[in-house]
Amino acid sequence: MTDVRDVEISASHVESFDPASDESVMRFAVHDRADVERVVAQARQAGVWWREQGFAGRKKHLLRWASWMASHRTEIIELLHRENGKPKADATIELLMTLEHLSWAARNAHRVLRDRRSLPGLLLANYTATTSFLPFGVVGVIGPWNYPMYTPSGSVALALAAGNTVVFKPSEYTPAVGDWYVKAFAAANPEAPAGVLSIVHGFGETGAALAESQVDKIAFTGSTATGKKVMAVAARNLTPVVMECGGKDAALVAADGDIRAAADAIAWGSMANSGQTCVGIERVYVERSVRDRFIAELRAALSNVAPGSDARATYGPMTMPAQIGVVREHVEDALRRGGTAVIGGVDSIGDRYISPIVILDPPEDCLAVQEETFGPTLTVTTVADMDEAVRLANGVAYGLGGAVFSRRRGRELAARLDAGVVSVNSVVGFAGIPSLPLGGTGASGFGRIHGPEGLREFSVTKSIAHQRFPIPGLRLLSFRRSAAVTALLPRIVAFRHSRRH
Ligand code: NDP
Repeated sequence: MTDVRDVEISASHVESFDPASDESVMRFAVHDRADVERVVAQARQAGVWWREQGFAGRKKHLLRWASWMASHRTEIIELLHRENGKPKADATIELLMTLEHLSWAARNAHRVLRDRRSLPGLLLANYTATTSFLPFGVVGVIGPWNYPMYTPSGSVALALAAGNTVVFKPSEYTPAVGDWYVKAFAAANPEAPAGVLSIVHGFGETGAALAESQVDKIAFTGSTATGKKVMAVAARNLTPVVMECGGKDAALVAADGDIRAAADAIAWGSMANSGQTCVGIERVYVERSVRDRFIAELRAALSNVAPGSDARATYGPMTMPAQIGVVREHVEDALRRGGTAVIGGVDSIGDRYISPIVILDPPEDCLAVQEETFGPTLTVTTVADMDEAVRLANGVAYGLGGAVFSRRRGRELAARLDAGVVSVNSVVGFAGIPSLPLGGTGASGFGRIHGPEGLREFSVTKSIAHQRFPIPGLRLLSFRRSAAVTALLPRIVAFRHSRRH
């Protein structure tokens, strides 16, 4: 299929298109390397003002921004629908989640990031020990198109709340949503100098220019392959990075789980947003004794689920046309190698929309089980017990999220999944709880956004040891240490640490 967007974009402009109709949404001039440097320099200047606001001032500005976006919700819901393709109800949920996290960050930054005093210990009892969490300076945020506001906002809002200024590079597929989000901050805070939150538009080169610029930290959300490129570029300046990359999340369905509720949640978790969700469910491991019941319930849960762009559609078109080829490759590979299509099949893949596809018992080494499919597809694998389910679920390179359905063993099984975030008896619940950190392991990346860890991710930890008064005769950290103190040292070692445990 020809990707009209790839044909019509020019090097000097980035233009987005409605994935349901190919109509142009908006067009922006591309920022080249010099532009990016200018925007970063302006962000650095604005940082002086932003830091002066302190936690209370920043909270006020961030909450004003949230309330401006809430008051102008119809604009952004319409734009999310047009540019990304998702139904308006899903766009509304995306806005709500964005605002929940933003408001949590604004309200909790002071509590999480204020100075901490700790006990100095016996040896340096004449000191006070203080840990501070200071802003890095300018944070560069590179975001994807699947949740074009919620996902980058998990970095943008937390970085701002922690006192950084931010330069945001949205995906070339959703520049208008990114632009609206950034302009909303200025509209809500007209007294703020330019540069507290800025945007740079363009393609991969603009993202690479941002990663290589003078920013003090990079927050990347996107595919694992691009994440590696961003890290390599950031390494040139030793710029620290937080990597939120792809996933291949598994749901475990135990015999003691609520099978109907599991099927209902997994139907949504796998197909919503056309399956283009980093923490969407792509694999299920279900115990043999409840397998057929699960499939029947899944069929029922998906019976009225259909893609489209009208008000009745449960999810939209594929946002990025090139992804349709990936979905086809994964489905064909799984079916050719022994999987059985129990819902939909290759014919469900259109040139814009993909209807739900569920494949039963494909081999574990097929693409649909090992690689991120990012489409409305699901593999269901029958297992003898939950030990086998955990082993197979952990047998992929990714470690982003997961789900467990079990009445008695939910927490235990969740703990055994190699994943950064897990929901028990639901899917994706962790993404809607602002106090819970979010991030992955392995090929899904490292570092955390959201929650207290997310605020600290955008802070430099600084420790200050303050000698309040000298202890007469006990100069430990000095060439003028007395012979008596030196002689005492081995006895202190023995006294403090030789006790048998
Ligand atoms: P990509 O990796 O293709 O792109 C992500 C961003 O990186 C885009 O803004 C892109 O710009 C930019 N970019 C591309 N090349 C470079 C480069 N060389 N240097 C710097 N930046 C570059 O991801 P997608 O946009 O396709 O997003 C989907 C992926 O994101 C999926 O893998 C999904 O799982 C993951 N994701 C992870 C989440 C998480 O929290 N872990 C959340 C949401 C999505 P451009 O678009 O202009 O090419």
